[in-house]
Amino acid sequence: MNQLSLANGFNSADNQPVKIKSKPAQSAYLDKRVTKSQSENKRTRSQGARERLRTKEHLARLAVGLGEVELAEKIDRCHSRLSVLTCGRHIARIIPNFTCEFRLCPDCGRRRSRRLQNKYLPMMNGFMLHNKVTPVHLVLTQTHKKESRKQSAKRIRDAFTKLQRREFWKKHFKGGTWSLEFAKDKNGLHHTHLHIVGFRRTFFAVELLRAEWLAVTGDSHVLHLKPILDLAAGLREVVKYVSKPLGIRRFGAADLKEFLGLKNMRMFGTFGEFRDFCKNFEPSDNEGAAVGELESLARDLVEGCACPQCNEPLFDLRMSKNELPQFYEQMESSPPGEVRGS
Ligand SMILES: [Zn+2]
Ligand SMILES: [Zn+2]
Repeated sequence: MNQLSLANGFNSADNQPVKIKSKPAQSAYLDKRVTKSQSENKRTRSQGARERLRTKEHLARLAVGLGEVELAEKIDRCHSRLSVLTCGRHIARIIPNFTCEFRLCPDCGRRRSRRLQNKYLPMMNGFMLHNKVTPVHLVLTQTHKKESRKQSAKRIRDAFTKLQRREFWKKHFKGGTWSLEFAKDKNGLHHTHLHIVGFRRTFFAVELLRAEWLAVTGDSHVLHLKPILDLAAGLREVVKYVSKPLGIRRFGAADLKEFLGLKNMRMFGTFGEFRDFCKNFEPSDNEGAAVGELESLARDLVEGCACPQCNEPLFDLRMSKNELPQFYEQMESSPPGEVRGS
């Protein structure tokens, strides 16, 4: 079997779990080190902030075009005035005047994925302490078809449900989280990816999983599997799709309209034994405090507190949404030690 897999030349990432297996104990998985994920964006904070502004302007324009004036106003008002707690070189906390909570809003999306991370990371760490499992990032894909996003999402979730009922899956996976990522190809065909943080019980040749996926989908064997070395980074990578459909800046009115119709669709969930574990999970006081809060680790910081990164005193800087990218830029270009922005 191994020989066959090697002959087929499956990629090196699929081979890596072998190395992981020989790593000592669980501490390796709980390491908080930030590992660079393959798809981590290389853009600076100022570029990111500028891009979010443009995305929101684009969404607001589309909303106006659809007659959704109220939505457009909400998007426009969301994060329009900011209270920035800063030492001049670092930002400890940003408090927005208003959040629109619109599913496609990039600012609200960031908050949402932070909330998910705060909620699920302690549970994942807890689960790993109780079980002998290895976390992996699994991306299941589907063939592109002429169908709506809703149909495409249902198709992949149904296939995943079937997959979970199969002996192979039960033998190798103990549960995990899933999230949906919508995509659209050059020809305008929708397809959905299912991103999974899976807790793997034992190593297996990825070719076997491909065969299983083909068996339940009938037409797709394409998937990607890689070990997660840093649980926090792995979870971050997976939840970011919940808030960020691909190619949102190329969205047209029809795309926005369709998303408005998806209001109640779940984009994230847990499965298997991990789901049961989450139901019974009692966070410690610290973890409990982090749940559901924006900038959770910084939530207690106020003006006059020491900057968590450099210990300089923090002050409250009020600015408009258009000034934030500039402020980031200033921080990016100022030499270490120089304080700005007061
Ligand atoms: Zn918003
Ligand atoms: Zn600082």
